[in-house]
Amino acid sequence: MSTLIGVLGAGQLGRMLALAGLPMGLGFRFYDTSADATAGQLAPLVVGRFDDADALASFARGVDVVTYDWENVPVTSVRVVARHARALPSARALAAAQDRLTEKRLLARVGMRVAPHAAIDSAAQLLAAADQIGLPGILKTRRLGYDGKGQVVIRRTAELVPALASLGGRGLIYEGLVPFEREVSLVAARSRRGETRFYPLTENRHRAGILRESRAPLQSPPLQRAAERQVGRLLEELRYVGVLCVEFFVHDGRLVANEFAPRVHNSGHWTIEGAHTSQFENHLRAILGWPLGETRAVGHALMVNCIGSMPRPELTLTLPGLHHHDYHKAPREGRKVGHLNWVADSPVRRESIARKLADYVES
Ligand code: AMP
Repeated sequence: MSTLIGVLGAGQLGRMLALAGLPMGLGFRFYDTSADATAGQLAPLVVGRFDDADALASFARGVDVVTYDWENVPVTSVRVVARHARALPSARALAAAQDRLTEKRLLARVGMRVAPHAAIDSAAQLLAAADQIGLPGILKTRRLGYDGKGQVVIRRTAELVPALASLGGRGLIYEGLVPFEREVSLVAARSRRGETRFYPLTENRHRAGILRESRAPLQSPPLQRAAERQVGRLLEELRYVGVLCVEFFVHDGRLVANEFAPRVHNSGHWTIEGAHTSQFENHLRAILGWPLGETRAVGHALMVNCIGSMPRPELTLTLPGLHHHDYHKAPREGRKVGHLNWVADSPVRRESIARKLADYVES
């Protein structure tokens, strides 16, 4: 009988986990609130709400390990599932990442620098925080924000109260805006046996809060060493199992941690063709207690997100080295529907491809 992996959430990350695991002989079962979630094309999909304990229990029965494609899976759902199957990463790791305030505190506790910040539940607190931390700043919902949703950049005092109202007035965090030189992320894997591997640092470019392009490896041995040291401490602190990604700003040449995702991450999609072992395969190896695969890059990788709609493959594939990844999701403004990967033999060649690909994707 093949090993069966259960995945809570059946979006593109779950889909790419299955695409990595099927060749290794793994079986998959997905759980999602939507019957047409994209990973359901590849393996059986159980449809149910995340508060439906009976549906969650029948999903988890007979599954070897349950993991997630969405970091906001309610911790209560994970606890239900964990009665029937091993659930990895742990509910504790998920919970820590689900609230931006506890997340920042954890990152600081393991020795990472973080932006100055304050919890906000009222206009008075926001005015005091803006006074103390300064402007410009960024006001974010503490929970359930993603892809730039649930956050507002504030540059002037007059914008504070309207921004607070637009985000619901409470359950928020105000952060000083970090004038970063660049944004980078580190994807790491830690297995059930404690084996740990790090991918090369990835440089990320966002627009309107959404990741647009990633390039790896970022060739900076000092930053790589610092990031590995810091993320290694986070993995140990959480006794983490699986793939995890920490996003950093680089400010004055030093790392400032922004957030972490307790799962495979968009900034690691380049690893599918750009590293010896993809982040998806290593996540599966990690949660199964299998040896981890080599994380080195095989060249100079570029990943370009397709936001809103996919370019036609007849067009992108005129570049013979291109890898066209279509998540099979309905087009919608601001939605990640696929990505394009390229592995170049030099950073210069990578930039010439990046300019070409920019014409294929909506900006
Ligand atoms: P987040 O949802 O925290 O990942 O934010 C999305 C993007 O907004 C980040 O990748 C940054 O480009 C920008 N951003 C978020 N927080 C800050 C901050 N404190 N300072 C500067 N830029 C930020």
